[in-house]
Amino acid sequence: MNKNHDLFERSLEFIPGGVNSPVRAFNSVGGKPIFFKKGKGSRLWDENGKEYIDYINSWGPMILGHAHPDVIRAVQEVSENSLSFGAPTAGELQMAELLVKLVPSIEQVRLVSSGTEATMSAIRVARGFTGRDKIVKFEGCYHGHADALLVKAGSGALTFGKPSSAGVPEDVAKHTMTLPYNDNEALEEMFRKVGDRIACVIIEPVVGNMNLIVPQDDFLKLLRKLCTEFGAVLIFDEVMTGFRVALGGAQELFSVIPDMTTLGKVIGGGLPVGAFGGKKEIMQQLAPMGPVYQAGTLSGNPVAVAAGLKTLQLIQAPQFFEKLSSITSSLVERLTDAAQHEGINFCARNVGGMFGLYFSDTPPNTFDEIMASDRENFKKFFHLMLAQGVYFGPSAFEAGFVSASHDSKDIDETILAANYAFKEL
Ligand SMILES: *Cc1c(COP(=O)(O)O)cnc(C)c1O
Repeated sequence: MNKNHDLFERSLEFIPGGVNSPVRAFNSVGGKPIFFKKGKGSRLWDENGKEYIDYINSWGPMILGHAHPDVIRAVQEVSENSLSFGAPTAGELQMAELLVKLVPSIEQVRLVSSGTEATMSAIRVARGFTGRDKIVKFEGCYHGHADALLVKAGSGALTFGKPSSAGVPEDVAKHTMTLPYNDNEALEEMFRKVGDRIACVIIEPVVGNMNLIVPQDDFLKLLRKLCTEFGAVLIFDEVMTGFRVALGGAQELFSVIPDMTTLGKVIGGGLPVGAFGGKKEIMQQLAPMGPVYQAGTLSGNPVAVAAGLKTLQLIQAPQFFEKLSSITSSLVERLTDAAQHEGINFCARNVGGMFGLYFSDTPPNTFDEIMASDRENFKKFFHLMLAQGVYFGPSAFEAGFVSASHDSKDIDETILAANYAFKEL
């Protein structure tokens, strides 16, 4: 009996598609999803007891690896004193102080419970602050599933071939303008035409939701310059890149400071936490100070904040990001070598602890280039690796993640499996 399959069949009866978030369903690679029971460090075990090396890490949050003893202890200790108050706690202050200290653009910050809430709220504040309606996003970037942002989105939306969703009124979508990523000319033209009507531009400063795409040729610097010139709020959506590509996020890495930043994933250490913050004058627009309403019954939940705080404390260890980058680089370099050895059209790259695998001869820099990569080969590679106990994201449009628990033994085992997989292709 295959317990994973059995659980999935039963889930289909009670949960739409059998899953609580679409990309988990394996639709784009075929087959049935794995049901996990346990994780420890870099490893996972499924319901059949099979072991895997995990390169998803819950899509980023588990940067320390699974079940880190210090994080588990912090959660247990706080839980003893109740799970929620719906009133302020000292932990939230500590978290806010830490985010202000570590993220260059953040002067004030508010906690929410997901990345979706963070981006949705940031956009509302930006609109309230500027008194303008129009927002700009980039093709293939994913900013959560709020109506205004489900237009030409990436990630699961892209995986299912419908980057824009049904159920989003045209009246809402018409205020969202989209531009190609890494296209300086299109960006300048947009601002020349309607720059003074743009409330905000939201962008993944390194894109992790159409595989991995890196900003080119001063693209972010140009964006910063234009937003300043036209009085539009620049929002870096660092839900994925925050505390993942560097301690201060992509803004630190590229030395481009946005007006607002959204965070999620790593800052909850595996529990639901999101945050949005930025310039004080913008954040002061929020209720109860200002006219922009935003709220949450479980926002700043003490247990979630304890997991996040402990995670953020541990990743400040000296050389943490150097080590994480170096192990991730060794993974992508050795995978590339293994593929070349078998003559497979493949390349890979990483930024800090996130990476992209591409079945194409050069790393893509645009949405169109990503769409042109060989998805059939990805599918085969994915299943060949999964069968050998290596768990990559079940879609050619998702980035991969390495944790601080991954070591050279994990990489050696991965390469051994990849040698076989590339030979089979
Ligand atoms: C994951 C993600 C989101 C959405 O966060 P959720 O917690 O899934 O709502 C938003 N933006 C980016 C860049 C993300 O990677």
